[in-house]
Amino acid sequence: MLKFNYHSHSTFCDGKNTLEEMALSAIERGMQYFGFSAHSPVPFKNDFGLPTSEIDNYLNETKRLKKKYEDKIKLFTSMEFDYIPKISEDIRERAEKYNLDYIISSIHLVSSENGLWFIDGSKQESYDKGLIECFGGDIKKAVKAFYSQTNEMISKINPNILGHFDKVKMHNKDRYFKEDEPWYRDLVMESIDLMKQNNTICEINTRGLYKGRSNDYFPQTPWIKALAQKQVRVTISTDCHKADEVDKLFVECSNHLKDCGHKDIWYFDESWKPIAL
Ligand SMILES: [Zn+2]
Ligand SMILES: [Zn+2]
Repeated sequence: MLKFNYHSHSTFCDGKNTLEEMALSAIERGMQYFGFSAHSPVPFKNDFGLPTSEIDNYLNETKRLKKKYEDKIKLFTSMEFDYIPKISEDIRERAEKYNLDYIISSIHLVSSENGLWFIDGSKQESYDKGLIECFGGDIKKAVKAFYSQTNEMISKINPNILGHFDKVKMHNKDRYFKEDEPWYRDLVMESIDLMKQNNTICEINTRGLYKGRSNDYFPQTPWIKALAQKQVRVTISTDCHKADEVDKLFVECSNHLKDCGHKDIWYFDESWKPIAL
């Protein structure tokens, strides 16, 4: 079975293991392709992104590892970019400058008139607090802002991989809205249509499930089925932050995709290619 993962983190950003430890774990688990995707630097104080001063070291280390293990695994260099309107829109330019193999782009911070709403991380309280501070507690307004930022990112950046596209659900846990409410479904379907138009590869991210932060993948099963129906391209990533997470739920997720109507998944080997499930 072909095993791959193009979304991973290391000690260069908020991961727990070095790039080399991640690569060795991927080799040990029989993976054929593995991509490094540090959180890109962002122009404000934070504890998750690659520091700007470390960019060269990161790029050089990925290059060294590619060469060192070339007869065991194909390694790739990328970054997971945060798309934030007016703050970090120059993703294409930076990816070219760093000579990255592909681009993952995701949203962890939602832009508002009152600052950035942080929807990721392990704490529900910061989600709740941000919802009040940035959107006066208006969940519809907040979720609409999240998906409109997503759509802008797809249209303007056209990333190769769209990361965890329904992440906004993570800390909701059915408290503010239910995911089968028509207004929510309409927003999701609009983004899915846009992915189709732009030929974006939608990531099916296993992390929420294996970390116990979500009871389904990102995106959740009804959207995985909608992606199949609309024939949007998908890939599987584990968004690993530790060496033992490099292929977590990869096999289970492949089977699930098949059950949901997907015929193939996409992997990268100098270009993006489909492989039958
Ligand atoms: Zn992410
Ligand atoms: Zn990530």
